[in-house]
Amino acid sequence: MVGRVHAPVPPLPAEDHRCPSCGLAYAELTVEAATATVAEASAAAAAALTEVPPHRLRVAPDPGTWSPLEYLCHLRDVAITSTIRLHRARTEDRPVAEPMLADLRAQRFRYAEADPAAVLDELHRAVAGLVEEIGRLGADDWAHTVTRFPGEERTARWLVRNAAHELRHHVADLRHAGTVEIVVRPRAEADVAVLIAVLRDVRRRDGYPLHMQHDLGDWLCGTPVIGAWVADHGGGVVGHVALRLPEPDDPVAALVGEPVAVVCRLFVARDERGKGLGERLVRAAWREAAARGLRPALDVLTREAAAVALYERMGWQRVGEITHTIDGGAVPAICFAPP
Ligand SMILES: [Zn+2]
Repeated sequence: MVGRVHAPVPPLPAEDHRCPSCGLAYAELTVEAATATVAEASAAAAAALTEVPPHRLRVAPDPGTWSPLEYLCHLRDVAITSTIRLHRARTEDRPVAEPMLADLRAQRFRYAEADPAAVLDELHRAVAGLVEEIGRLGADDWAHTVTRFPGEERTARWLVRNAAHELRHHVADLRHAGTVEIVVRPRAEADVAVLIAVLRDVRRRDGYPLHMQHDLGDWLCGTPVIGAWVADHGGGVVGHVALRLPEPDDPVAALVGEPVAVVCRLFVARDERGKGLGERLVRAAWREAAARGLRPALDVLTREAAAVALYERMGWQRVGEITHTIDGGAVPAICFAPP
């Protein structure tokens, strides 16, 4: 019998981690500077929260990303967990620490439904407790370690640096989640009329979709899908993608040679291009496919240079070429799938 593999938990950052996203370098962060960052975290979170409109507090900006309120709860959990790990590093001999399982907490404890004022108060007290705990470490304590998974041993110094980074980085995430202009969310029935208007403009100006005889509503909604997502610009819908199971003789599925879900019906309004919406939409579909154990794949007309560039930018690979017959003519297309 195959042993049970623990749920995927990202590895802990290294002792000398440099965050590729925010640039913070652990090796350059003194304990004093890290402690100062920790100490100001609840005020920083409160300031970020004031920038988030109330209707956005519980809204995830993309499927698979946390809402601002979930980030706030995570900040509190980081402060509490760091305090306990630091205390144990100081008072026990190489203790084994539980993983945080942050996504599980957000789901099981319904963090998106929490009361922001109450969580902010908890964060304030958790941060004060962490600062107090840091103050109890003596010169000899900084090299003491905790272990999470076997081989994953980290020092007390790392615990303080990591807490500072997590708190600073996720305050920025909270602000971004609550203020990013466009949200990617599942398609609703009420979106369809606006989507058809957007699509009509895209077809008039870009010639996509190419099948001119098709009714656009039918092209958009006539095929059963696993899921469909829209880019929502505060009430106006400006982009779309869908994910479907392959047809029995689907050439894309044959080229990939493993269970696939086909990414399709991708378009973004002309005025909203260049903002990364195509990639965010494809990632929403990709995430759903992966959750179902399916490899996403698609075909794109060779002449659609911008779409081809998008998939290449995302690191997707060309798995083959096919030819569509459209209005009696042969139209070449490239099939892509992520590695
Ligand atoms: Zn960072």
